Amino acid sequence: MMTKYLACLVLLGCLTSNAMAGMTADSKPVEEVENIYGDLNDASSVITSIDSGLFTSYRGETRAAWEKVYGEKRKEFSERLAKLPTEGLSENDAKAVAAMRKQFAALSETVSAPFSPGGKCHEASRKDLDYAALRTALLGCFTENANNVMFEGEKINRQTVLDLLHEIDEPARRKAVFLALSPLWHAINGGNEPDSPYRRMIALASADAAKHGSEVDNAARDAGVNTAGVERWLEQILDAWRQANPDQPVEPWSFSYSGAEADRLLAKSIPRESLQPLNQRFYQDLGLDLRESGTLYDLDTRPGKAPLAYTDFVIHGRMIEGAWQSTIARVSAPYARGGLFVLNELVHENGHVVNLTAIRNRPAFVDWPGDLFVEAFADVPGWSTYEPAWQQRYLGKATSEQVSLRALYSVVVLDVAWSLFELRMLRAPATDPNLLWSEITSHYLHIAPHPELSWWMMREQLVDIPGYMVNYGLGAILTAEMRQHIRQALGPFDTGDPRWYPWLQEHLLRYGSERDSRQLMEDFLGRPVSPQALLDQIHRLAPPGK
Ligand SMILES: [Zn+2]
Repeated sequence: MMTKYLACLVLLGCLTSNAMAGMTADSKPVEEVENIYGDLNDASSVITSIDSGLFTSYRGETRAAWEKVYGEKRKEFSERLAKLPTEGLSENDAKAVAAMRKQFAALSETVSAPFSPGGKCHEASRKDLDYAALRTALLGCFTENANNVMFEGEKINRQTVLDLLHEIDEPARRKAVFLALSPLWHAINGGNEPDSPYRRMIALASADAAKHGSEVDNAARDAGVNTAGVERWLEQILDAWRQANPDQPVEPWSFSYSGAEADRLLAKSIPRESLQPLNQRFYQDLGLDLRESGTLYDLDTRPGKAPLAYTDFVIHGRMIEGAWQSTIARVSAPYARGGLFVLNELVHENGHVVNLTAIRNRPAFVDWPGDLFVEAFADVPGWSTYEPAWQQRYLGKATSEQVSLRALYSVVVLDVAWSLFELRMLRAPATDPNLLWSEITSHYLHIAPHPELSWWMMREQLVDIPGYMVNYGLGAILTAEMRQHIRQALGPFDTGDPRWYPWLQEHLLRYGSERDSRQLMEDFLGRPVSPQALLDQIHRLAPPGK
């Protein structure tokens, strides 16, 4: 074991110095343009960090100063890019220039706040809004309602509702906290009339997808299948769950609860203030010191804050005079409570931090890989929190394997259900969403149909980036594949393994946005992606009655 570990470290050293060679441009003009691109990207991510409420100034400069830098760098980059020779570049430089050109087209003239771009909910009733404007208005509806949920005379947020749905023992209170989301559902989907804001939006999303491709099409490509193949895989996973669970219908407000015995058994072991220390300790054991990495955290609730957890760049790492200047990532979340569900999400967000921090590439590629890979990878460490071995080590108390598996996969299959829902809505946008959701959830998850409620509207992504949920649902297939492959290559890692981070950096993460996700996964696994690893995991659940 020890010899293997040492050999691995030596090998890592070799590979890393070889990899250094590709971290700067081959030609001087490209190097200069690429550095401006790096500055531009940093100005953009610093501005969004300021707008997120994390800080009011960064490195001594205010938002206005960073905005000035952004405007100048944007102009400079555009001019210099136009003057670059189109011929005679090395293959690597040509690839980097093409990537920067594509990314630059997506950088708007001004930078707006993440997840709250100033959309006004009342605008959503206007029938003349285009796709982008309608999504912005709906995002306004989501943020406003998700941050102001009234339950038992108190204001809570959507995150807390989801959390309480796992924990409240009394069915009537559970139903009440579930129905406390009604104003959110109503703001987005009205009375489910054919021209409700959501139904108009999904029609526009479908038309847009026909022209530019959808998130589902992108995810299918990254998984190495077509959209019909994605649908089949999603159905297979849901069917495996259906067969492993009793037929008796549960009410929608009791679905999470029925899978969440682990959450309840461990609730007292995971108070709010323990979230960060637990998270940091786990990653330390996996070979990454999050404090040393300079990652910034903004985890408390605050009025007007983004209504969901997310991770992004503050500073993009790059080589400066032969030395790597680290990436700085930030995590934002509205956590009022602790618990397993929240802890799992925090570990997921820090899986994104691992992904960003591990990138070692030239500025053109110091960026997120594809969405499917990104969400799937974040769950690789995330799922460990549901393993009894993890719980025993970090919480000093574990649930049984069956109880843990049920807690994890009841969350996963709900993501898979949302994926199937969006795939079908995008394909046939005139479909009644409440009926479709009732059909999917009653058939596969044994949830009593409630087509009078738009209760599928629980996730910000559904209005922000229609089709995005597939990155979680289909992503689960890649997560199971990666976890299985890492276990085979390194051994179990649920209780830590210091080789984990350097090994994954070398084999999977250092490329950033350079590599095509499908090829990356295929090279990593040594074969194409298949749903088998996830199906095997769900089959670990004992069938009903046993
Ligand atoms: Zn994520």
